[in-house]
Amino acid sequence: MREQDPKERIKNFNEVPYGYNEDEAVKEALRCLQCKKPLCVKGCPAEIDIPAFIKAISETRFNDAILIIKKTNNLPAVCGRVCPQEDQCEKLCVLRRKGNPINIGNLERFAADWELKNKSQKENTVLAKDCKGTKIAVIGAGPAGLACSADLAKMGYCVTLFEALHKPGGVLTYGIPEFRLPKNIVLKEVEEIEKLGIDLKYNYVIGKIKTIDKLREQGFKAFFISTGAGLPYFMGMEGENLNGVYSANEFLTRVNLMKAYKFPEYDTPINIGKKVAVVGAGNVAMDSARCALRLGAEKVYIVYRRTEDEMPARIDEIHHAKAEGVEFYLLTSPVKIIGDEKGEVKKLVCLKNKLGTPDESGRRRPVPIEGSEFEMDMDTVIIAIGNGPNPILLDTIKGIKLTRKGNIEAGTDTGQTNVEDIFAGGDIVTGSATVIAAMGAGKISAKAIDQYLNG
Ligand code: FAD
Ligand code: SF4
Repeated sequence: MREQDPKERIKNFNEVPYGYNEDEAVKEALRCLQCKKPLCVKGCPAEIDIPAFIKAISETRFNDAILIIKKTNNLPAVCGRVCPQEDQCEKLCVLRRKGNPINIGNLERFAADWELKNKSQKENTVLAKDCKGTKIAVIGAGPAGLACSADLAKMGYCVTLFEALHKPGGVLTYGIPEFRLPKNIVLKEVEEIEKLGIDLKYNYVIGKIKTIDKLREQGFKAFFISTGAGLPYFMGMEGENLNGVYSANEFLTRVNLMKAYKFPEYDTPINIGKKVAVVGAGNVAMDSARCALRLGAEKVYIVYRRTEDEMPARIDEIHHAKAEGVEFYLLTSPVKIIGDEKGEVKKLVCLKNKLGTPDESGRRRPVPIEGSEFEMDMDTVIIAIGNGPNPILLDTIKGIKLTRKGNIEAGTDTGQTNVEDIFAGGDIVTGSATVIAAMGAGKISAKAIDQYLNG
């Protein structure tokens, strides 16, 4: 797909890939073999009828294409952009054996963008039926909560979706940067979901403003918890409390949700200096590194304890970060941050590693090399080593079973917890995963809640 030149794009927050035009989309769609037993569908957690929507694009029936996708996926413009298709539908596409699978994600994005540009939203929206009177509370308006709310509303339930922040989307809004996922697109897709008749309440922290017990008293008959994994982990090393150390979560929230990159138009300042180290190598780390470059850092380093083969980030993300000039310090573990007399970050101290035997994740374990310690001059350190569940809500639910890491224990086929009217899904159950996995969990729980309420 055509994209902004790396030298230009590091000066702005505009989206990097341009998207297909109609000719490009039709040409790509025509490559599809329309398999009788399409393996690609097996790789899609939202079970989109992939050959059918691709056929519609190949015949320039673009509105039909988006209607097919929307039967099972309410966030197609989002998923077309950020889903790891290379590990899902595209991984199973038969043409992959020949080295060039169909670009299913790009085609999904094309169909969704075509609708946003060309079609009156009214014509395509399935408008809400009058709700049947049974009230359901969904907590957290990220992909899991949005997918669950949409399916429940379509079944005729009265859904109230409570969101702690002032905007919907969860990580789609506060985490993933504008240049990967424009926020107007997230908002437009959420507006469509709201039109199904969902009552979306912002600035509403369940666990603080109201508890689940209170909501039960108010007549809510079932609950879906989709509060994500928004509590950042730190390394526990010396110097992490210095000025200039951010969790990736705080850094990205300031940049994306609070629009620090538009300072002073938006009054959230962010001072990152010239040299920035990002610790970790997942999507969150790549997003932080690429934001730091765009905010004017001269040198941005990814510091990762293993090798590129073990990096959890999407291949596309790593490729984009490299093209933009992010430097990779691999087999390197930070051990200490040194500050100056004002309490600001001055140096990052690291150790070199070699790879040892595989750990429980199957990836080879980093083993520190004795005497390999070295220092790097640094102004900012961003810690992107993962997130856990926020306990605010969970602490107020009596008896709910949690895992050792504090995630909710929920049945994989239903999302039902040990408290029978409470269901849960997305990152709050699995830990940090993917947008489509969270949506899939929301859809599964919507069906299970319907079965639960009907005995
Ligand atoms: P979230 O998206 O975290 O949403 C949870 C929502 O619940 C939030 O809006 C939060 O404010 C709200 N909430 C929390 N507590 C309460 C409460 N007590 N009361 C009310 N509301 C509450 N996945 C991909 O597939 N592709 C990617 O490219 C990708 N990139 C990523 C980049 C970053 C920076 C991050 C952080 C994650 C990325 N992911 C990516 C992972 C993906 O975004 C998550 O797996 C997904 O968003 C999880 O969805 P969720 O609905 O479970 O939770
Ligand atoms: Fe088309 Fe590939 Fe799916 Fe076959 S597996 S229908 S070629 S996208």
